[in-house]
Amino acid sequence: MVTYGAILWFGKVDNRMIRRHLLAAQRIVLLILTKACRTVSTAAMQVIGGYLPLDLEVVKKGLESSVRLNRYVKWGDYEFYPIQNIDNLSLQEIKNINNVEYDKIKEVVYKTWQSYWETEVHGRDTYEYIKEVNFAAERKWFKPSKGCTYVITGYGPFKFTLWKRGLEETKFCPKCNTANHTSEHVIFQCSHYDRSSFEDIRRYENCKYRLLQSEEKFSKFQSLCNKVIEDCR
Ligand SMILES: [Zn+2]
Repeated sequence: MVTYGAILWFGKVDNRMIRRHLLAAQRIVLLILTKACRTVSTAAMQVIGGYLPLDLEVVKKGLESSVRLNRYVKWGDYEFYPIQNIDNLSLQEIKNINNVEYDKIKEVVYKTWQSYWETEVHGRDTYEYIKEVNFAAERKWFKPSKGCTYVITGYGPFKFTLWKRGLEETKFCPKCNTANHTSEHVIFQCSHYDRSSFEDIRRYENCKYRLLQSEEKFSKFQSLCNKVIEDCR
């Protein structure tokens, strides 16, 4: 387990090399869990699956251990001072204090993740659909299919992205032959794809996150993604 003994080394995850190795390890697992294409960024997969970046997972575990052991700790905006006279408190009282601290730790760690996501250069297609890093974790119904993951990451059987990687001879949409064949084109723009399952989809092109704002809307959107992706092959 990567987070084992996190209390001893969580302060070192800011080191660029350590962070890179942690994220590389997490990436392999995320590729399997999220069913995304191999070209999708680690940051996008973390947000889609609701998996805390592994470096922050180590920080979270390290901070929690410090609290549990009643040791002073400081990380970013979070600071914990050991409880005085801890021997006079009941186990329940200690547990209550710790739970309050765990909530604060979670908050500071998620805030950091959110700032990673907002300043990240990769995964910007996904950012248009999912702005908040806690989105997936807080919506149990959000379990995107493979087709839906292709659409919200922008990587899938789209000629433009394949062409950019030298895997396709043309970048144009095979149906209209006029525009680049991208996720956005097939879902919102091209008139040759059947959108009868979600007729007013075009209204969402500039506010894609609204497509995921309720379970009902998401399920409708997902059916459309599955159908359109099927049609791309
Ligand atoms: Zn087209």
